[in-house]
Amino acid sequence: MDGQIHTKTYDCTMLEHMPIGVALFDAQDLGLLAANTLFHTFIDTFLDPTWKNGRAIGHSIIEYLPKAKETGVVAIFRRVAKTGIPYSAGEFAFSGFESGITYWNWTLDPIRDSDGRVVQLIQTATEITAQVLACQEAERVHAALSQTNRIAETDRKRLEVIETVAHSVRESLDADNISMAAIKAVNTYFDALYVYIHIANPTQKTLELLHIHPVPAKKPLLSSVQHIPYDSSFPIAQAYKQHNPIIIENLQTTPSLGIIDSSNALVMSGGHGYACVPLWFGDTFEGTLTAVFKECISDDGPEVQALVGSGMYIAAALAHARLHRTVENERRQLRAVLDQLPEGILITEASNGYISYANAAAANILGIPVTSLTGIPLNRHPQILTLIHDALPAYRTRFSMNNDPQAAYKENPIFPWHFAVIRALGGETISSQEAMVVRPDGNKVITLSSSAPLRIEGGDITGAVIVFQDVTAQKSIEQQKNEFLSIASHELRTPITAIQGFAEILQMNATQEQSLSSQSLRALTFINEQSQSLNRLIEEMLDLTRIENAQLLLNLAPHDLISTIKHVIETQAAADTNHNFQFVLEGLQDTLIGVFDENRFVQVLNNLISNAIKYSPAGSRIEVGLRYSPTTPHEALIWVKDSGIGIAANELPHIFKRFHRASGLDRSISGLGIGLYLVQEVVTRHRGRVWAESTEGSGSTFYVQFPLKSKEA
Ligand code: ADP
Repeated sequence: MDGQIHTKTYDCTMLEHMPIGVALFDAQDLGLLAANTLFHTFIDTFLDPTWKNGRAIGHSIIEYLPKAKETGVVAIFRRVAKTGIPYSAGEFAFSGFESGITYWNWTLDPIRDSDGRVVQLIQTATEITAQVLACQEAERVHAALSQTNRIAETDRKRLEVIETVAHSVRESLDADNISMAAIKAVNTYFDALYVYIHIANPTQKTLELLHIHPVPAKKPLLSSVQHIPYDSSFPIAQAYKQHNPIIIENLQTTPSLGIIDSSNALVMSGGHGYACVPLWFGDTFEGTLTAVFKECISDDGPEVQALVGSGMYIAAALAHARLHRTVENERRQLRAVLDQLPEGILITEASNGYISYANAAAANILGIPVTSLTGIPLNRHPQILTLIHDALPAYRTRFSMNNDPQAAYKENPIFPWHFAVIRALGGETISSQEAMVVRPDGNKVITLSSSAPLRIEGGDITGAVIVFQDVTAQKSIEQQKNEFLSIASHELRTPITAIQGFAEILQMNATQEQSLSSQSLRALTFINEQSQSLNRLIEEMLDLTRIENAQLLLNLAPHDLISTIKHVIETQAAADTNHNFQFVLEGLQDTLIGVFDENRFVQVLNNLISNAIKYSPAGSRIEVGLRYSPTTPHEALIWVKDSGIGIAANELPHIFKRFHRASGLDRSISGLGIGLYLVQEVVTRHRGRVWAESTEGSGSTFYVQFPLKSKEA
């Protein structure tokens, strides 16, 4: 008995010290029979103060735990009492206290009598509210963290897509590469069913498929996206009207909303999310970037952001491709025109001097196939040997002395076109350069070429163009004509000099001896005058050939301009008594020394005065003037003024040209149209300037601005 008491005491002591609340209930009325201190603490803490300090003992759980019924606790007690099956609950949420929800681990075990009937119930309880809340908090934090991670992950995906596209833009501006990179990136980072790019065709008002990935196995889907007219009912067709992306969160529910036909191939493909980004470059609609996703998407989801982000790069690449196509087309058209031109054209690049373009005419003239012409710098072209007629007389002389062009090339490997190109690359435009080209077959071609710089916007020079034509035939005719003129003039000069000389002797003898009738004397005088004018004409023709052959050289020496002019006027006045000659001096009195070729100056003055005589009526006045001003001490102005027929305004620009005579001219007035050409040649060779002012019907004035210290031009 003693032992029993002791055991009971120990039991009670142990229960007292257990870290869990323990209570004993009557299985019938659920009355609280006994409880350890911790259990009492629970009662004191959570229950109405009425039940404090052990006052719950002897009372049913239903009484002191008012919500026990509602929360199912009573049912559990009854079940255990009835079935004898123990009950155990972890994290039992109990909201029956005023303090709100509390969490409990509790068990309920049946205690049976010797007949096996459940007579009592023993409950253990531990309050784990703090732990559960801590756990919940941890879970919340964990959930929040994984949400952040998810966001970071989608953000990363979005950025990866954009970065991939941006990278491909940095690599090249090829719209194809960039589009493929974008499509693949979207496919890789997002669960896309299809990604595709359309290019806008504003003329046809359609969107043309550029790429789709993966290529749909089903034909209807592929053909439904191949050409999309702007007036199609599919949402993508609205893209050209807007900048914002077109988003369909779920294609599968959209048909029920009436936006897309449920038989639409995309809907049939089983896709959910749909995003179409209009690709704009400035004000130009370039096309669309579209993706169909396996899952639903949201307006501001990472997929849409990735598409929008890469869309900007794709739009730029498409715009670049478009502009490139336009430029290429224009270039092709221009090339087609250039290819057809009869003039030879070569384009040289500023960057490396290489010939980048040669047309068929160039190849033909130079006797070198187009393919061999291009890709080699002009100055190192082994086959083009050219000589500039005017710029390099020494070279020309050497060349004409040496009949072997290859030897000439080795001796002096300078290509005049190279100079022209260098000058053109320096910004100069050089026109009408005569050059001789020796073709690979040894034939010589005379070309007339012009060179000009090629500039881009902003003025930078990117190359030079040389345009040339084959003037060999014209040159040869001209040369024959010159040779004929030269020979004819020489051949004529000898007999005419003899005629003139003998006529003068006869005239002199007849005058001294008075042996001839006045009629014969007049005839002799006429012969003399005519042979003189014939002589002048022959001299002019010879001068012409001298100019052609670059043989008109000046014999410069100091002379007095005033006395030279006076002498010319006196001679002219003696020969022509029909006109009234006046010499006007302005700004000086006696002498004006200048360095010039006196014979040539006399020729100029004679020509101008002869014209004044020829083209003005007998009895009219011819004024020859000389003006000198100390403000321009290096030059003098000379003029010859008549009151004759004058020159029409439209003729004035042409009268100094070779063989040109005014169109309305009375053809009985003799002349070849050489005089003024020679005047101009002589004056410009003295570095002077000649021009005419005239009013038709009331006379002309010819001005010569003449430098006093000439150097040969
Ligand atoms: P031409 O031998 O015909 O006189 P020029 O070369 O001397 O040749 O002159 C060219 C043309 O200019 C003439 O044919 C004439 O039409 C015009 N001309 C020249 N001088 C005069 C002038 N003083 N008055 C009117 N016309 C002139």
